[in-house]
Amino acid sequence: MIQLFIPLNFLGFVYREIRRALVDMQRMFDLVADEPKVADAPDAQRLALERGHVRFEDVSFAYRADRPILDRVSFDIAPGRKLAVVGASGAGKSTLARLLLRFYDPQGGRVTIDGTDIRRVTQASLRSRIGVVPQDTVLFNDTLAYNLQYGAPQASAEELDAAIRTAHLDRFVATLPEGLQTQVGERGLKLSGGEKQRVAIARALLKNPKLLIFDEATSSLDSASERAILVALREAAEHRTTLVIAHRLSTITDADEILVLDHGRISERGSHDELLQRNGAYAALWNLQLRERATGPREAAVHPV
Ligand code: ATP
Repeated sequence: MIQLFIPLNFLGFVYREIRRALVDMQRMFDLVADEPKVADAPDAQRLALERGHVRFEDVSFAYRADRPILDRVSFDIAPGRKLAVVGASGAGKSTLARLLLRFYDPQGGRVTIDGTDIRRVTQASLRSRIGVVPQDTVLFNDTLAYNLQYGAPQASAEELDAAIRTAHLDRFVATLPEGLQTQVGERGLKLSGGEKQRVAIARALLKNPKLLIFDEATSSLDSASERAILVALREAAEHRTTLVIAHRLSTITDADEILVLDHGRISERGSHDELLQRNGAYAALWNLQLRERATGPREAAVHPV
């Protein structure tokens, strides 16, 4: 009986660990009910990620043959740099992130990391090196510590402390009577949208990923929360190759490059200053958001064109 119990228990543990590691990515991309779309190549290798150079080369993609989503999209994110993508709802921003995580393969072109086509590496090794901060972080009914550590249960107390500091959660934790042992989630303390996103940043950092995908929440946040997230993201992104899917332009003024995606094509690209000088769709959107910021209580979500 005991002999039978141990392996089953162990398998249960392994299953739970794998499931946990995937939960955030699945939530981010609504993939829970989906069948896996890709399989590892028979000779797939572990990803040997050294510099963290991401490249999309002429990538074309459609979920369904009759509706192209991306049309020959090319860009580079140099090691340690930050690329931001903006565009109307449905323009294909999250699709870029799904392709980088290889939830789908492009029908044309390729995605490489440090020169290796990601179709040639195992999905597990690819995803283990990418930290994902989803738009909407769902918390488990458990302690804050559990919620922070579930993606990296082997992390030390020092690593947890460092991640909490970088995510600018330390002051928040200090206000909780039971600190990290506070129960959160539906049946415990309810965290604000901004606090939840910072939990997600700390969670992603505990994996110490070389690449970071940050999917900004679309819901409006008060300016203090937005600033806290902004600072946390800047620190988290330091020395990491980062892809930001942005809904508020104020978050990405420091990006090394900004792409404006319009119907699956890059319509404008450049730094914040370059795009303002160009006086096109990005500049129009920036001015709109400035006006809304001055007049309305609600931050504008980015929906150009
Ligand atoms: P948002 O700002 O609203 O998050 P987005 O620019 O991130 O939008 P994507 O999520 O990349 O847009 O989706 C691009 C298009 O692909 C949308 O029209 C969407 O409806 C469609 N799409 C997304 N996922 C699927 C899917 N699994 N099957 C079919 N179509 C999909």
